[in-house]
Amino acid sequence: MARSRSRLTAEIDFDRDGKQHGFIRLPYSVHRSAYGWIPIPVACIKNGDGPRVLLMAGNHGDEYEGQVALGKLIRSLEAEEVCGRIIILPSANFPAAMAGMRTSPLDEGNLNRSFPGDPYGGPTAQIADYIESVLLPQCDFVFDFHSGGSSLTYVPSALMRRPQTPETLGAPVAYLVDAALGDHTLTAAAARAEVRHMSTEIAGGGQVTPTALRIMESGIRRVLTKVEALSGEPPPAAAETRIMQVRGQDYYVYAPDPGLFEPLVELGEEVTAGTPAAIIHPHDTPWREPAIAAFGRAGTVICKRVPGRVERGWAHVFGMGAEARQQPMRTRRAIPSIAAFGTRQAAISTTSSTARTVTTPLFDRTRSSRSRSSTRSSTGSIGTRSSPRCTRSR
Ligand SMILES: [Zn+2]
Repeated sequence: MARSRSRLTAEIDFDRDGKQHGFIRLPYSVHRSAYGWIPIPVACIKNGDGPRVLLMAGNHGDEYEGQVALGKLIRSLEAEEVCGRIIILPSANFPAAMAGMRTSPLDEGNLNRSFPGDPYGGPTAQIADYIESVLLPQCDFVFDFHSGGSSLTYVPSALMRRPQTPETLGAPVAYLVDAALGDHTLTAAAARAEVRHMSTEIAGGGQVTPTALRIMESGIRRVLTKVEALSGEPPPAAAETRIMQVRGQDYYVYAPDPGLFEPLVELGEEVTAGTPAAIIHPHDTPWREPAIAAFGRAGTVICKRVPGRVERGWAHVFGMGAEARQQPMRTRRAIPSIAAFGTRQAAISTTSSTARTVTTPLFDRTRSSRSRSSTRSSTGSIGTRSSPRCTRSR
């Protein structure tokens, strides 16, 4: 049930056809401005009825690839190319994005740990509340473009955690893989709103590279085409996608001691259990023997820490994925949809056997609740004869 208490207001009308841009105004009364507001940029490109998509980046402010790509999309995409509606929120946690930080300098808020938010909370909680209570209820899909940010760099990956929707059988498996994230992520918010969700981890390192941006930009258009929000041929995939899985804590390597981080492997390397991952050199007592961090299982290195200094506990130095060879047939139905993003890897996060019972493809835009103009697809996949037709405005 959508709440309507948000104090945020959009300058644009999400129901109007055409291309609009402006700000979502977040009231912010401070010493220098009693009646000021924080201007969160937003665009809406609508052309008749069809899929309703929310594109987000800047959920974490120091993840730049998605922010650049969505800004370029706002400038380049015209309403005539669209079927339905695409809302674009390129710097969702705008105060964090302006500071170039993962979290907001106003309240230390991590937007992706702030859902469902609070309409009377700090700025980050209010943004989360607006996304969950105002934007998501009027969308069928949300695509949230993350990257490694300042502290991590990834082999560019599409990251799909299973949404908790009425169509799925069982629990919200994404949270089983990373219980610490709990119900406070956008993934959880999308599940609560019964909105299809996909995320990414595209490179990172606090920078933008041409390669990463190419993957991001072509991937966004491929995904939009896949859900029939864009017409025409999608751009070619940037790479052949390997389907991998990340299934538990032993997929991550943490620094056993504080010190200076010397990585021993590169992104993309294949490792086995016990392979040394990093040497952690004692910074303040360099005559002591360094600590060795080792991989806990076999797999492919898909994520690596960037900064050279580490602390015990909060320094996740490597992450890895394993080939998803054992995916059962019912789960495989979703795999072509993941590959649509065209990244080199797609991580399926599962930790429990309940994950294997999921049968609904990501890009199915039919839902059992919240009626909309579409009819339910007999196959549960997009682009079939039974998919709802786009009704374009002229
Ligand atoms: Zn992120």
